[in-house]
Amino acid sequence: MKKCIVIGGGFAGLTSAVYLTKAGYNVELIEASSKLGGRAYSFLDKNTGTVIDNGQHILMGCYEETLKFIKLIKAEDNFHFQKRLEVNFLASNFKILPLKSFPVFYPLNLLLGLLNYKAITFFERLKLLKFILTLPFFSKKKLDHMNVAELLENGNQNENIRKAFWEIIAVGALNANIKNASAKIFADVLRKIFFKGNSSSTIVLPLYGLSESYCNHAQKFIEENNGRIFFSEPVLSLQIENEKVSEIITSKRTITDFDFVVIAVPLFAIEKISPDIITDKFHLKYSSILSTHIWLNENPLDKTFYGLIDSEVHWIFNHGTHITIVISHANELAEKSNEAIFEIIMSEIEKFTKIKKELVIRYKIIKEKRATFIPSGDIIKLRPPARTKLRNVFLAGEWTDTGLPSTIESAVKSGHTAAEIIIGQSY
Ligand SMILES: Cc1cc2nc3c(=O)[nH]c(=O)nc-3n(C[C@H](O)[C@H](O)[C@H](O)COP(=O)(O)OP(=O)(O)OC[C@H]3O[C@@H](n4cnc5c(N)ncnc54)[C@H](O)[C@@H]3O)c2cc1C
Repeated sequence: MKKCIVIGGGFAGLTSAVYLTKAGYNVELIEASSKLGGRAYSFLDKNTGTVIDNGQHILMGCYEETLKFIKLIKAEDNFHFQKRLEVNFLASNFKILPLKSFPVFYPLNLLLGLLNYKAITFFERLKLLKFILTLPFFSKKKLDHMNVAELLENGNQNENIRKAFWEIIAVGALNANIKNASAKIFADVLRKIFFKGNSSSTIVLPLYGLSESYCNHAQKFIEENNGRIFFSEPVLSLQIENEKVSEIITSKRTITDFDFVVIAVPLFAIEKISPDIITDKFHLKYSSILSTHIWLNENPLDKTFYGLIDSEVHWIFNHGTHITIVISHANELAEKSNEAIFEIIMSEIEKFTKIKKELVIRYKIIKEKRATFIPSGDIIKLRPPARTKLRNVFLAGEWTDTGLPSTIESAVKSGHTAAEIIIGQSY
């Protein structure tokens, strides 16, 4: 039986390990930290006894690879799948402006939903629709040289449409300023959302903490298929001989008996373990996500989540006893003190909701400074494929060349690709 070492237990490494154990490989997954999940995990907040995520994660119906993975590890029941797209946007006058797909057949359901989105005028809705419908006809060459702001400008999307629709969607999907993000990657995401059937545009949310929702199920799957997971064991370096990795040196041992290695760690971690594996050197710029969990005496919200129009706060997720405030591309804000951030958040959400500072029992701010990489036009061209110059080493991780932004779907797709290449190469 061929043996694979998977380095890293985030979505990418877990996916590789799941598919490799399913195919009968002897898999050892080695994780530096004491838990699985990488950038998507949950933990117990001891002060409140609540399980919270390091950051709210949103999946979409177009996350084909992720949904397949969740099904394979039997974690589907831990997620809520919208039947039809429904996002409640909030304006600063307390108004709820729903974007809701109609209960008719696809694609009429989405067209009617967009035509009924009252945050913009009817004329602007027609412009929005026209832009979406012409997306498949934008030339790849043109997109390659544009950023998202230029794409929207080119498509006649005025400031009102940008603020009430595009900025929320683009910042949510890309976690970047629209001037820094590639039009190509955004157009590809939009095509997946709007042109791949009814369920593609729907939102999928974990029902429980992320670790319970998927990490535990992935671990169970791997172990039931005779894989082993080693925690708190960072890989320190790799020994390379004759175009192959011959030794893996971890903080606890040296591993020499393996056939294949999947490296599923972030780019900055690879640079420490074995910088030469990436042939064409490049650096990623990262973008922060701030998640603020706020426990309330009384919660006036009744929807599961809200998108905020023209606000520094992007999303509010309602978990009943507490809410989670998500602020994307928050590099500047992340430099401020927690107290200052909390003040900004409260003054913002008081404008949009009936939540008042007096209702707050406690808050906890989590700053993920390297949440995602910024998908700028020049960077996405440099993302490496799964195959490396070393014959027994494959790369996975959301930053590799998946064609997708820095998301769970990209991580899962990369992990599956690496596993499939190994499986294909073994015969
Ligand atoms: C706050 C936040 C919110 C987000 N929201 C969303 C969202 O709503 N939707 C979405 O699709 N995506 C979202 N993302 C992005 C998503 O979480 C990531 O794209 C995805 O989790 C990356 O998975 P990965 O396996 O590629 O990398 P990682 O999750 O970074 O996993 C890498 C693993 O490798 C381990 N490792 C590192 N070095 C070593 C070493 N030397 N030896 C052994 N192990 C090592 C790490 O400990 C880690 O477990 C969000 C990210 C954050 C931080």
